Amino acid sequence: MVRMWEDLRPMSSERAYREQLARLYERSAFYRDKLRAAGFADAAAAGGLDDIAKLPFTEKDELRQSQAATPPLGSHAAVALNEAARIYSTSGTSGVPLYIPLTRRDLDDWCEIAVRSYSRSGAKKGERWVTTYNAGPFVAAAALSAFDALGVTHIPVGTGHTEKILAALRSLAPQVLVCTPSYALHIAEQAAAKGIPTDSLQRIMVAGEPGGGEETFRRKLETAFGAKVYEVMGIGDIAASLWGECEHQAGMHFSGEGFIHVELVDPATGHPKKLADGETGELVYTHLRREAAPLLRFRSRDHVVVWSSRCACGSQALRTRCIGRTDDMLIVRGVNVFPAAVREVVARFQPRVTGAIQIRPRQRGVKQDPPLAVVVEADGDGALAGEIGKAIRDALVFTPEVRLVKPQSLPRSEYKSKLVDFSEAT
Ligand SMILES: [Zn+2]
Repeated sequence: MVRMWEDLRPMSSERAYREQLARLYERSAFYRDKLRAAGFADAAAAGGLDDIAKLPFTEKDELRQSQAATPPLGSHAAVALNEAARIYSTSGTSGVPLYIPLTRRDLDDWCEIAVRSYSRSGAKKGERWVTTYNAGPFVAAAALSAFDALGVTHIPVGTGHTEKILAALRSLAPQVLVCTPSYALHIAEQAAAKGIPTDSLQRIMVAGEPGGGEETFRRKLETAFGAKVYEVMGIGDIAASLWGECEHQAGMHFSGEGFIHVELVDPATGHPKKLADGETGELVYTHLRREAAPLLRFRSRDHVVVWSSRCACGSQALRTRCIGRTDDMLIVRGVNVFPAAVREVVARFQPRVTGAIQIRPRQRGVKQDPPLAVVVEADGDGALAGEIGKAIRDALVFTPEVRLVKPQSLPRSEYKSKLVDFSEAT
């Protein structure tokens, strides 16, 4: 019998979950009201982890509404403002930031989770790590304390200082570079253009956006740097650096054991799916011991594939790879299109293409009529556009309109590259 990852759930998670539910009823007006409205009078009625799928999901929009109705932290927060040790924020859609408070213990928990994720591919004392996360306001900054805790020689450079990164590559010979995948590509291109050697680098740790899990994109980075690429993935409302890849590069291992409960659901129906090898769906998270802003069944919008079998590294921890964001997803005549998957197909045409693409929908919203415009950076002509169009049609079952533009003409982001641009939409 195949052992399901759920079967390995430690008893401490069950106990922590029940205590957390009791705390939600006591301290979070948002969850008390939400769970009672769903027919669960108290924590006992809400049951244990085996019953979790009966409870309602939490959507990001609900957190925004909760914060707008009960500023500054929202009624989902389970602590007073002065009990928070740190408050991160995400850029809100209407210009109002969404706050993510953490207590001292929450911060320590995040640090431990991030240490697990970043150490899976190996971290040696004295190894030099150049990192590009800014100190604030985004949760990625929480990983900075993990780099210190790892005992490495941490060289924080921050985002937007490419010259400083190149200088560090030249003078400090770092073994590890930590950045987003699109920024890694930018650094590789800049280093090559300026003749700066990158051979000291052994590992590129990428996080913050999917790219690092795409085979062709990863190979391009690995070739450019002559180093191995390892992916880390977090989610701001849950924990920074929640998943991390080991030396076998077989998907990112879950590092939230004991802190966070993870589920896989069908994004369309919300029905639970088995955490078994090769299953795909959306990740849903529940905090088991978060104090400041605990979330229950939070929909991540991350569309992933998972593996539950034991990894070659010996770890049984669930593994995942992100296919795309359900937020970014477009639907072309009933076919789900993930922009990251389009980028992956286009990347197969390297070196004739740079790997950078942008999708320019003609209509606002998710539903699109074919052909869907895909702008591709390439050195080529109509014949190449035709080949790329055919490859996209064959692999992803929708009709694109491939437009070639000169290499380096699409915007390069120093944090996350935008794969969908609605500026041509009506
Ligand atoms: Zn492993």
